[in-house]
Amino acid sequence: EIDVPQPGQVIDRDIRDYIVGHLQEAIDNHWIQVYYQPVIRTLTGELCGMEALARWVDPQIGFLSPASFIPVLEQVRLIHQLDAYVLEEVCRMLRQRFNHDLPVTPVSFNLSRYDFSAVDIFSLVEKTRIKYQIPRDYLHVEITESALAENDDAVHQAVDRLRNEGYEIWLDDFGSGYSSLNILKDYTVDLIKLDMGFLRSFTEKSRDIICSVIDMAKELGIKTLAEGVETQEHAEFLASIGCGRQQGYLYGKTQPLVGTLAHIEADARRTEPRKWCHYYDTAS
Ligand code: C2E
Ligand code: MG
Ligand code: MG
Ligand code: MG
Repeated sequence: EIDVPQPGQVIDRDIRDYIVGHLQEAIDNHWIQVYYQPVIRTLTGELCGMEALARWVDPQIGFLSPASFIPVLEQVRLIHQLDAYVLEEVCRMLRQRFNHDLPVTPVSFNLSRYDFSAVDIFSLVEKTRIKYQIPRDYLHVEITESALAENDDAVHQAVDRLRNEGYEIWLDDFGSGYSSLNILKDYTVDLIKLDMGFLRSFTEKSRDIICSVIDMAKELGIKTLAEGVETQEHAEFLASIGCGRQQGYLYGKTQPLVGTLAHIEADARRTEPRKWCHYYDTAS
């Protein structure tokens, strides 16, 4: 029995060794699975996307949080193995849905800064996409502002290439670091994902900051998505200031595909518009 660390806790040496030693086995045996969290369009309340997030349910340890295994895999420079697996699973899923004419949305997947130094990310994404014949606009790349902050040449080239070839670039955790504005100067991104920190405090000051970021994004022609939307109050505020997309426990937690896609069926059954649609005249 090994203690599972909580987020922020120093990761136990045993757990670290276990994660590193069992990554390949966990991938091969599907102990690591791809779960999805819904992304909702503010204007209509409909499901317009899903974020792919890795879950590791280990037969010996039980549930391992991404907050424990992602940093370990980054430190030992094995994160690209996980991310390549997640991308492959996403493409396999999309192909299956297309083949059976089943409804599906575009999927955003997360890349780590260490993916860029380990592999040719552009080629990896293209190779996987082509293998499953997925249209490029079904795959969005999430990269955290901290990954872009160093303005590393290799990262810059790969991100530009992905974008030029038709993959949307989503700037993750915007506002959680200290160099957000520089990133917007140095990179062209398609969407800003506002870090959930602003909604967690939800003071007048936080709301003013969110509002300014949304206005700035509009000025720059960049789409916006707020993370960590938990209450109706959050949703109505975001609609009133024209934040285009939302993601958070109000709409759905990270769960297996069928749970997330149940939103599509719920939308199809709905006759009344969702409450916050009253605000849609200002939402984009
Ligand atoms: P992220 O990309 O910022 O993902 C959003 C995280 O916020 C997810 O945590 C999600 O479950 C959580 N979250 C979503 N809505 C709410 C909410 O309303 N309230 C609160 N309190 N939390 C919410 P998760 O899945 O634990 O992932 C944590 C981070 O781990 C992700 O942050 C992402 O950076 C990373 N991650 C997960 N899977 C992968 C992966 O396959 N590859 C890479 N490179 N990173 C991954
Ligand atoms: Mg993300
Ligand atoms: Mg995020
Ligand atoms: Mg975040």
